[in-house]
Amino acid sequence: MSKIYPGASPVVALDRATFSVRRGELVAIVGPSGSGKSTLLQVMGTLDRPTSGMVRIVGEDVAGMSDRALAGLRASRIGFVFQQFFLAQHATAVENVADGMLYSGTRHRARIRAAAAALERVGLGHRLSHRPPELSGGERQRVAIARALVGNPAIVLADEPTGNLDSASGTAIFELLTELNAEGATIIMITHDRELAARLPRRIEVLDGRIVADVTFAQGRST
Ligand code: ADP
Ligand code: MG
Repeated sequence: MSKIYPGASPVVALDRATFSVRRGELVAIVGPSGSGKSTLLQVMGTLDRPTSGMVRIVGEDVAGMSDRALAGLRASRIGFVFQQFFLAQHATAVENVADGMLYSGTRHRARIRAAAAALERVGLGHRLSHRPPELSGGERQRVAIARALVGNPAIVLADEPTGNLDSASGTAIFELLTELNAEGATIIMITHDRELAARLPRRIEVLDGRIVADVTFAQGRST
């Protein structure tokens, strides 16, 4: 697919980038700043539409779907994690995570229960009623990951999830994502960290909107 941002000087952010990811994969997307990684993740995640080309999720071409149908698809199938966490500062951890299911039609009590379970799963069962300012960066990112996971999405898309963290917290978040993949989630993670990327079973390299390498290692080198 390609993506051109229109304007006085249009930007070709993606230039015929083609690849597919199978269920259960764990993929790193790497490349310099401005190479099109975030655009790629947004288009794959249906947050934005490609200028040309096609995005298929679970076999279905999303081009024909309305924005509303796409919102439903995202709510049920895709969890997002961002470098800046994007948590509501005044809401507790459990409320932030429960909000991840707002569009799922689940009742409030059940959402809170699922949110508490998701926080347990990321190791934050003891911080349910803390608000983001009362949490460390690594803990905030765990809340964001719990929010991405709470609806049990098949696919987790993470845009530099360790980018704002010190290296120990970043490694812990990386290991958490690896564990979640081992439990069955398909995970696609943008990272600037070449060492982390080298530990993943597949690495896609982006440069100037093009995929310049797509390498799968016979065996994951994560330890
Ligand atoms: P990366 O995540 O690899 O740093 P991006 O996907 O954010 O790269 O950006 C790719 C290119 O597209 C950059 O040149 C950037 O300036 C441009 N770009 C990103 N978003 C927009 C936008 N909304 N409008 C115009 N240009 C954009
Ligand atoms: Mg980016």
